[in-house]
Amino acid sequence: MSFATLGLSIPLLSTITRKNYTHPYPVQEQAIPAILAGKDVLGVSKTGSGKTASYALPIIERFQQRTERSERFPPALVLVPTRELAIQVAEVFTDLSEHLPQQIKASAVYGGVSINPQMKNLRHTDVLVATPGRLLDLVESKTLHLNKVEILVLDEADKMLNKDFREEMDKILAQLPVRRQTILFSATLNPDIKWLQEHLLFEPVTIEIKETEDAIDTIEQTAYHVSMERKGPFLRYLIKEQNIQQVLVFASSTRTADNIVAKLNKNGIQAAAFHGDMGQNTRIDILHQFKSGKIRVLVASDLAARGIDIVELPVVINYELPRSPKDYIHRIGRTGRAGAMGKAITLVTPEDDHHFGIIQKKMGRKVAITETDTVNLQGY
Ligand code: AMP
Repeated sequence: MSFATLGLSIPLLSTITRKNYTHPYPVQEQAIPAILAGKDVLGVSKTGSGKTASYALPIIERFQQRTERSERFPPALVLVPTRELAIQVAEVFTDLSEHLPQQIKASAVYGGVSINPQMKNLRHTDVLVATPGRLLDLVESKTLHLNKVEILVLDEADKMLNKDFREEMDKILAQLPVRRQTILFSATLNPDIKWLQEHLLFEPVTIEIKETEDAIDTIEQTAYHVSMERKGPFLRYLIKEQNIQQVLVFASSTRTADNIVAKLNKNGIQAAAFHGDMGQNTRIDILHQFKSGKIRVLVASDLAARGIDIVELPVVINYELPRSPKDYIHRIGRTGRAGAMGKAITLVTPEDDHHFGIIQKKMGRKVAITETDTVNLQGY
């Protein structure tokens, strides 16, 4: 199937070609025509499946016909659970509409940073991407009104169902017009999502993209046996020897991440840490530098790494094993995304052997482990 059959106009098809999207992903094949037709959608699909474009493209298309923009009444609202996702999603809208006759103004609002610049930037927004708490601040201070929202998207809705979010969500939903189009994406279809589905959606088109085993097959996995003491030098050796230009390294704690970064920088390899202790602006800045290639190595903890989306991230290194096999799969899933081939390298100490065995069993894949005793690490 090609994008041309989905009902998108020629200018948007040119943008898609420019982005090198050769064919639509399964979620896009199903969601784009449904959203263009004004239907409610329930999508069960994970990050990495192309779900953002699956709702951004038809929303942009529909907004090409709009002539008027009101100052503080956004016609589309995308609710997301994290700041990183808010920024990413707003960027996708801006990026995809950049060369169109009618550019879309997308703004991201999220907590953890000063509210004033976000307030200033809100005027004439077409697509507001928001985390619930900050959105409520803006609504309650009357900076923003939600009673003209025509399209509501809940992205990663399964992460917005805990108690704190639930209260905020109820307040937000009370502000929205009853007549609207609602699009809900979730990674799983659990009973809570069913509740949302029943209360928010009207005769939705349901799209379920099963996670195929192939996702993992686009990742070339290797592992190295290396003792605790030789891990640091071996990491630097790998990066230099294999001439790795962009790599996400996973560490188990903030402290280890900082230590790895300090040593890499001392050895002339540009690196930065990425963890929860940093201010939001610092994190945004670091992520930009990493994406643009100014930082070669990003060292992150599991928590911080959720939501990082870098197109075709070539290599991921597990400096330490995660506790759960699920986290291992989640980590290596940062590479080989959206059909691109990626590489995942894991450093395994003798103490890790048993645990790595369990991970491989759960994953249903065997990973060859190379011995490194004879590798000369002098000078690394
Ligand atoms: P998402 O699931 O929205 O986080 O998207 C995952 C990645 O896939 C993003 O980096 C997109 O730019 C990319 N992508 C989305 N749709 C396509 C497509 N049809 N062809 C190639 N890449 C795509």
